[in-house]
Amino acid sequence: MVEDCLFCKIVAGEVPATVVLSGADWLAFEDIGPKAPVHVLVVPKRHLADIGELGSDPAVAAAVVAGIGAVARHLGLSAYRTVFNTGAAAGQSVFHAHAHVLGGRDLGWPPG
Ligand code: AMP
Ligand code: ZN
Repeated sequence: MVEDCLFCKIVAGEVPATVVLSGADWLAFEDIGPKAPVHVLVVPKRHLADIGELGSDPAVAAAVVAGIGAVARHLGLSAYRTVFNTGAAAGQSVFHAHAHVLGGRDLGWPPG
């Protein structure tokens, strides 16, 4: 747990969130500012700042990927997009790794 990390606080239950599903090493909760009808964040319970750090713990990285699949199955998503924003210039605003799982509408490709 890293002090002043919002998602560490959500994992610890210190900040409320609408939890969708969880596993031993990951937590999925609804994004507070949804960009699609379904917008869930899947985070490692361990503090890792971004996808690069997540890759340094292959067991946790695999658990997060499995969590993304579990969330999609749980919500009955037949199509969805998974995004890891990495770095402020790419839109990362919370520096605790998280996968955005977006679905529930035609997302289009390439993204606008
Ligand atoms: P990013 O900009 O990729 O770092 O994504 C951070 C995401 O966290 C944004 O989509 C925010 O809407 C979302 N967010 C910020 N605060 C909360 C919160 N308290 N509960 C759930 N999602 C949040
Ligand atoms: Zn954290």
